[in-house]
Amino acid sequence: MIKGLVQGVGFRPFICRMASKHGLFGEVDNRSDGVSVIVQGDLKTVDLFGDDILQYAPPASQIKSLEIRSAQIDNYNNFRITSSKTIENQITEISPDIAVCADCLEDMESDPERIDYPFVNCTNCGPRFTIIEGLPYDRPKTTMKSFRKCGNCDNEYNNILDRRFHAQPIACNSCGPVYRYKDALRSLNNITLILREVSLQIAAGKTVAIKGLGGYHLMCDALNDDVVNTMRQKKQRDSKPFAVMFRDITAAKKYCFIDETEEEEIKSWRRPILILKQKKILSPSVSNGIHTIGAMLPYMPVHYLLFKSLKTPAVVLTSGNLSDEPIICDDHMAEKQLLSVADSFLSYNRQILNRADDSVIRIINRETTIFRRSRGFVPQPVDLKFSVDGILALGAEQKNSFCIGKGYQAVMSQYIGDLKNPATYNFFIETIDRFSDIFRFRPELIACDLHPQYLSTHYAELFENELNIPLIRVQHHHAHIASCMAEHGLDESVIGVSLDGTGFGSDGNIWGGEFMIADLKESTRFKHFDYVPMPGGEKAVDEPWRMAYSYIFKYSGDIFDYESLSVFNSIETKKLSMIKEMLVKKINAPLTSGAGRLFDAVSAILGLCPEATFDSEAPMRLESVIDCETTDFYPFQADTNIVFAETIKAIIDDLHKQKISVISAKFHNTIARVILEVSQQIRKVTSLKKVILSGGVFQNKYLLEKSLYLLKLNGFKVFTNHLVPSNDGGISLGQISIASKIKR
Ligand code: ZN
Ligand code: FE
Repeated sequence: MIKGLVQGVGFRPFICRMASKHGLFGEVDNRSDGVSVIVQGDLKTVDLFGDDILQYAPPASQIKSLEIRSAQIDNYNNFRITSSKTIENQITEISPDIAVCADCLEDMESDPERIDYPFVNCTNCGPRFTIIEGLPYDRPKTTMKSFRKCGNCDNEYNNILDRRFHAQPIACNSCGPVYRYKDALRSLNNITLILREVSLQIAAGKTVAIKGLGGYHLMCDALNDDVVNTMRQKKQRDSKPFAVMFRDITAAKKYCFIDETEEEEIKSWRRPILILKQKKILSPSVSNGIHTIGAMLPYMPVHYLLFKSLKTPAVVLTSGNLSDEPIICDDHMAEKQLLSVADSFLSYNRQILNRADDSVIRIINRETTIFRRSRGFVPQPVDLKFSVDGILALGAEQKNSFCIGKGYQAVMSQYIGDLKNPATYNFFIETIDRFSDIFRFRPELIACDLHPQYLSTHYAELFENELNIPLIRVQHHHAHIASCMAEHGLDESVIGVSLDGTGFGSDGNIWGGEFMIADLKESTRFKHFDYVPMPGGEKAVDEPWRMAYSYIFKYSGDIFDYESLSVFNSIETKKLSMIKEMLVKKINAPLTSGAGRLFDAVSAILGLCPEATFDSEAPMRLESVIDCETTDFYPFQADTNIVFAETIKAIIDDLHKQKISVISAKFHNTIARVILEVSQQIRKVTSLKKVILSGGVFQNKYLLEKSLYLLKLNGFKVFTNHLVPSNDGGISLGQISIASKIKR
């Protein structure tokens, strides 16, 4: 029995090859808990066979345990793959998409059928989730079905000793998909000519729309500021950093600081976008003043082919869609929409069935932290210690992902996005239908957020009203905490710290700076960040200067000389008095305890980001300026709730005395101290020692590392999210876990 990540990653064909190498007969079979191998032979041979399995396991697999025991078995006269009998076992066969492997890259240079063939793949690599229509995972159930295998591919497909044995997307130059290039003047379909043309376009400062694995990308030279700027305007993407694909790890190391853990992650078969500290600036418009680079390495064969002819070591590779819309995967729509944004268009004739954005990861405290979970991760299930069968959890509203329960596994959808965008909402509904089809899922219980206005809540109510399916509403921050507990298999009472932007609280206020005593069923609020008004409601999220004003007004009122702060000088007097009126008269100023809003306020006070053009810009800029070592922190009060009156005053005092970098570090240290202090208070009352840190604010590397350090130093056991995002992209995992506990 072999356990770990051993399904859907070319493991069974690999076992066949190893068995044949050792002359062993028997069978290999996928079970819901791993891969079972039966072989007949003497113990010594079987031991060697086991050693080889451990040593040569497929790159995308990860063996957690291999157990050999002897038993009486039937007589075998060959070695075979037993086809999965149950749907549960078939589900685990759907692998995420895997970056092209080294063997296949070599085939592109030496295999006569696959010289420069951009759709080369084998059982160890290639598209999976993005091309699958349903189970069982066989070629007719993928978008490869329209391509008839040639004789050569067919032989390889059926040869148990071949690396392409049962590789469903198997293809070669004479039978597989092909690329097609188009611009205003001409169209090309010869790959050599296409590559030459695209390289010329990139070198000439043009933008190319290019079909990827999970959707279309826009590509341009990351060193050419003009084209990066143009692309930004056309994409209507204000100042959010663009992801960059580097030629190879050497090129990436020239522009980014990369440590060992980061190198391993960026090179992994999942090939995510990795957030790295910037070493040398690319085009300044790539990261727009934020000192990190979202870096990735080539993962499709065509990326490698392109870099062979490209002169630049780095291209911007960003999803081909207008801001906030889902990534485009439909060829006609792409051609219509993207040819107006890009100068040329590079597509291929295999359909993308399930769109998937590039995943985004950051290494925090030497561990993987997922910001966006999509290509390379989905639909790998999260294993749970309890059954969530038949539950559909619909997630939050921003950064939405939903989750379906199959037995003891939670299958999370790919990153969907902000449901307020109509196209994204359609993507949400379409993907729920797709998941229901692929995984043969029918919901028996629905879980959603407590927020009455979330579109995901409305959709949940449709299930409730029209199909009569029971609905459980889960408080947002309880769900954050539970998402992390579920990941770590914790089913007990814990200290839950959820620092977040916004989430609907059970008192009707907007929560987000929450300290809870929680288990998977219930949560009680122990303490929270002081309520402050958000003048203008949602507007205050886009304009952090409003939160700066609100915080100062709450703690200092009229005594403070607002004109002494440069951030308010740039704001019209009329607007300032309007905000003041909202605060005084308490109109259109909902109360929030959101930690995100406090970070916004401080970022604005420091003049870093009075107005935000993308989600979390103010906290990102605040974190980004830190470049110093200090353990100093500001005073705060945590007797009743957590009050930042002294903190804000001290920050303003420091404005003339300290560098911005130091003030920001001290502010972050303060929040880490608050986390420690309140956790200690809870431990005193409850003797709980396990602390969960979850919520979007913990994407902040500096804050999370400081908090982990302080908590561990003081005897706490700390848990953070690794398998799903700590932001709202992980909410559905928390919802499904809580719903399953309440149901029973
Ligand atoms: Zn391969
Ligand atoms: Fe949240």
